[in-house]
Amino acid sequence: MKEDQKGPVEANDLVSFKNLLRENKLKVTQPRLRVLEIISAKDSAISQPELEKLLGKETDRVTLYRILASFEEKGILHKVFDLHGTATYATCSHHCSEHKHEDQHIHFICSSCNSVICLEEISIPNIRVPKNFALQSVAVNAVGLCDKCQS
Ligand SMILES: [Zn+2]
Ligand SMILES: [Zn+2]
Ligand SMILES: [Zn+2]
Repeated sequence: MKEDQKGPVEANDLVSFKNLLRENKLKVTQPRLRVLEIISAKDSAISQPELEKLLGKETDRVTLYRILASFEEKGILHKVFDLHGTATYATCSHHCSEHKHEDQHIHFICSSCNSVICLEEISIPNIRVPKNFALQSVAVNAVGLCDKCQS
C-alpha cells in the first residue's frame, strides 16, 4: 500500500497519532486519538456535527470543540468553510507547526454533495494587498462536481 493512500486504521497509524500528540505536547487521550483516526481515514474534510455523530456518546461537544481548536492551533488540522459556511476540518501536511500553517492550498467543494477536498498540489497564488494592510490568510475554493457526483 502506498503511503499516501488512506485506508483502514492500522497499528502503525495509532503509533504515529500518539507521536503526533506528544510532539505537540498534547496528552494522549482516547478522544484525541479517535478524532485523528476518523479524520485521517476520510479523503474529504469533516464537520464538527459529522464528527460528533461518528464519535458517539464517548465524547461530548465541549471536549470535541476543544480538541479541534487545539489541533488547529498546533498545525495538526486546518479549517475550511464549506458552501453553507459550516467549518470542516482536514489534516495538515507535516510542514505545519504551531501558529504557522504552511500548507495553504486550494479546496475543491462539491456543489452537489458538499464534500470539501484538499487539493494539496495546487497552492494559492501570491496575493498582494494594499500598503498598510496585513494579510493573515487567503482561502480559495474551486466549486464543481466531485468524482462521485460526476459519474
Ligand atoms: Zn496546516
Ligand atoms: Zn459530490
Ligand atoms: Zn486542505
